[in-house]
Amino acid sequence: RGETDDHSSVRFFEMGMDAHIDRRVLIEKRLRRAVACDAIVSHYQPLVSLDDNRIVGFEALARWNDDVLGEVSPEAFIPLAEEIGLIGVLGDHLFRRACADARHWPGNLFMAFNVSAIQLKDPDLVDRILAVAAEHGLSPARLEIEITESVMVERVDEARSTMTRLREHGVHIVLDDFGTGYATLAQLLSFPLDKIKIDRRFVTHVVTDRHSLVVIRAIVGLAKGFGLISVAEGIEDPEQLSCLKRNGCTQGQGHWFGQAVPAAGIEAVLAKNITTPSPRYRPGTKGE
Ligand code: C2E
Ligand code: MG
Ligand code: MG
Ligand code: MG
Repeated sequence: RGETDDHSSVRFFEMGMDAHIDRRVLIEKRLRRAVACDAIVSHYQPLVSLDDNRIVGFEALARWNDDVLGEVSPEAFIPLAEEIGLIGVLGDHLFRRACADARHWPGNLFMAFNVSAIQLKDPDLVDRILAVAAEHGLSPARLEIEITESVMVERVDEARSTMTRLREHGVHIVLDDFGTGYATLAQLLSFPLDKIKIDRRFVTHVVTDRHSLVVIRAIVGLAKGFGLISVAEGIEDPEQLSCLKRNGCTQGQGHWFGQAVPAAGIEAVLAKNITTPSPRYRPGTKGE
């Protein structure tokens, strides 16, 4: 009996693997197609100054709604694009579109763009970013490039020199998802940074978990000490927001302020923010 069980479980496992591989082959095929025909677009999520609840910029976030697969998360297709060598082409395409979109925004707003460690190894990246921004009349000072601790893993010197060159042209450098990677503080601080983004996992638990609060206070303090802006991602409710304000965090981002919207929806988001900055949560009103 044991033999039969073993046998069937092995077969089940094999079938599972086949299905897994088929799915992966399909996603890969669809991704190649989507990249080739520019089917992936960016949506834009507001970042808000925690002093006055005004929108200060938007982060471009890739969105792929495939005819066959439906909505695919960037958490899935960005790593796949990196693996199969498509991230360069995809990243260039998305950056160009994002610059074309951002040129219509008010001139005081920045556009933040995520760049993966693989893209940073491209020696021509800086020239391309600057050329595309210039083509769209977008000052480099309005660009923020978001990197993660994964850039510290290999060819760190190349990544650092790319960041340094961008920064010399006025582009701001943001360390994304801070607190989740494996880089040392010394490594992180050897990078030319303007802003530190506190990872969502700490923000999610800041009200209920003492450890998350301690980590957030430490990161905000670290940012202050080095003259950097701190930003909290994943703010979903007013309790989290007031806790971050109380602890001196500079900027915020999250569903409480708004999800990522298509380029065409930005104007409405801005209009609403100007007339009523943070409609549900104005200073002086109940709860603040
Ligand atoms: P990220 O750069 O850390 O972006 C923040 C993620 O948190 C986004 O997920 C955003 O939609 C989500 N988020 C924001 N506020 C909230 C909130 O209040 N609650 C919750 N639950 N989530 C919130 P998204 O759009 O799925 O992107 C996932 C990751 O994929 C990004 O993380 C980034 O690392 C990567 N990514 C997205 N677009 C690009 C791109 O164009 N290029 C590259 N290289 N990576 C990208
Ligand atoms: Mg980001
Ligand atoms: Mg992040
Ligand atoms: Mg993230």
